[in-house]
Amino acid sequence: MDLFEHQAKELFAEYGIPVPRGIVAHTAEEARAAAETLTGRVVVKAQVKTGGRGKAGGVKLADGPDDAYEKAQQILGMDIKGHTVRKVLVEEASQIAEEYYFSFLLDRANRTFLSICSAAGGMDIEEVARQTPEKVAKVPIDPLTGVDRAKAREIAIAGGLPERALDGAVDIIEKLWAVFVDEDATLVEVNPMILTVDGAVRAIDGKVTLDDNALFRQPDHQKYVDKAAEDPLEARAKELDLNYVKLDGSVGIIGNGAGLVMSTLDVVAYAGESFPGQPKPANFLDIGGGASAEVMANGLQIILSDPSVKSVFVNVFGGITACDAVANGIVSAFKLLESRGEAVTRPLVVRLDGNNAALGRKILTDAALPGVELVDTMDEAAKRAAELAAVGA
Ligand code: GDP
Ligand code: MN
Repeated sequence: MDLFEHQAKELFAEYGIPVPRGIVAHTAEEARAAAETLTGRVVVKAQVKTGGRGKAGGVKLADGPDDAYEKAQQILGMDIKGHTVRKVLVEEASQIAEEYYFSFLLDRANRTFLSICSAAGGMDIEEVARQTPEKVAKVPIDPLTGVDRAKAREIAIAGGLPERALDGAVDIIEKLWAVFVDEDATLVEVNPMILTVDGAVRAIDGKVTLDDNALFRQPDHQKYVDKAAEDPLEARAKELDLNYVKLDGSVGIIGNGAGLVMSTLDVVAYAGESFPGQPKPANFLDIGGGASAEVMANGLQIILSDPSVKSVFVNVFGGITACDAVANGIVSAFKLLESRGEAVTRPLVVRLDGNNAALGRKILTDAALPGVELVDTMDEAAKRAAELAAVGA
């Protein structure tokens, strides 16, 4: 879950990281009032969960309340990389001498935490990283020892920060590490971290990504959950306690067990390559161990309410919940959906294997549900589901 800049900065402030005073405004009038409160020059900043706002014209300096009103009017409603600006952050303007880059992130590829630091921060950091990678220091962090003052100093020096900014930067880096760890973040980024003309170091932009899997132990984070930005199907699935992730393709996937579903995605993507339009998985859905009729019905309902789904692949390996139970679940799910006025009209490919597979197949064969095909192997079933999606597209 990504935070808005103003939320990231509110979090930074809680940890004692120096950030400019700021006020969120939803209208140009509110922006004017904010500038009156802050006094002096302000900066009006689009609040959207994407980078590159500055280059898109979403960050503008204003001389006073009237100018802040003007600038807010220009920025509110703006589209930045597909995100509509619905609020701005009005902040006291900083007098910038230098701009640095700093971040902590989870480096999945190298299975470690990583800090990235550069004296050449600001809006062109990507370009700097491409053209002159030696100017961007990447220092791995040992999760067991973390970041103390000495480590923070080592990182700042590796990034080429000048002596005059070191103390201030080290202080911020140490505190950002506390944010990163204590808040279960997978990214904290400050670009730019600035040196002001008065010699102070502060964070004037902030990007934080929190780990959704840590929500259970971070009750405070509930306030950041952005209902408007959530995929409506994912939100509905969450309410139904389903492990569902929306993807871009057209083959709906239901399986029992996260590992099986993951491999099903791979097999379907591979099978799809040999059909026109190259159909891909439309979702991840793990119905877990139970696979009762209700869970199956809810799963099917979620998947079928995605209009891009052209076929569904139900891939079940019977274990403690045997295939006959799953087959009965599918039969009842069809009835349940029909009674809800949502009869299944798209083709379903079912592969049952493992415990009581033969019995499960017999139940489905006898039920003769419309559009349901049984295929014995996972590869063949994936091929058939992809083929049906290609035809239905
Ligand atoms: P981003 O483009 O989405 O990363 O937005 P930033 O918050 O990083 O702002 C982009 C750029 O605007 C920064 O790199 C600064 O150069 C400039 N900027 C932002 N805030 C101020 C400010 O208070 N004063 C001045 N002079 N420039 C600012
Ligand atoms: Mn920035």
